[in-house]
Amino acid sequence: MVETIAENAGTALSSLERITKERQKANTDGLTGLFNKRYFLERWESEVQKALENQRPVSIAIFDIDHFKSYNDTFGHVEGEGLLKLVAHPIAGSVRPSDVVARFGGEEFVVILTNTSVEAGCTVAERVRAAVESLKGAEVLRPVTVSGGVASCPHDAVDAKLVLEQADKKLYHAKQSGRNRVSV
Ligand code: GH3
Ligand code: MG
Ligand code: MG
Repeated sequence: MVETIAENAGTALSSLERITKERQKANTDGLTGLFNKRYFLERWESEVQKALENQRPVSIAIFDIDHFKSYNDTFGHVEGEGLLKLVAHPIAGSVRPSDVVARFGGEEFVVILTNTSVEAGCTVAERVRAAVESLKGAEVLRPVTVSGGVASCPHDAVDAKLVLEQADKKLYHAKQSGRNRVSV
């Protein structure tokens, strides 16, 4: 009987491990190892909800690599993808472990900054921008920079989608005003 129980427990544990691994894979961006867009969008909705319930601010920062198309065109897509992987490090390394870092699309990254006001979000985004600018190493084939946009709930909007739209507008503004900067 003990043997049967142990066997069943073992099977249950391995299927739990398998489910956990599959879930992890479904939430992860295959290239960078960051969260993917699907996971991010779900999590963003729930973090905004939580922030409103707890009457705490939550911020979002979007970053987009400057002139990435030209990097791809100059060095090829393999190097371009290498750069995406490299850029993930200073971004993830500049925020709290509890913050949620995701690859939003091609060369765009987003960070959910929980419990963070728009002012504090701006400071973090600026730290990310500076960290990317300082990225060095043989694999970085030319200086790389990002532009960023920051928006907050409830400062900019209380609806998750609208806050995201605001952050995107700020990013566009940062691009328009010369790149390698954060707009809030
Ligand atoms: P900007 O400073 O305005 O952001 O200019 P940009 O060149 O970075 O932006 P643009 O939107 O013109 O080009 C983005 C390019 O990113 C186009 C596409 O070839 C490339 N790209 C998007 N996703 C990937 C990817 O997964 N791998 C690679 N290698 N390239 C990608
Ligand atoms: Mg882009
Ligand atoms: Mg770009």
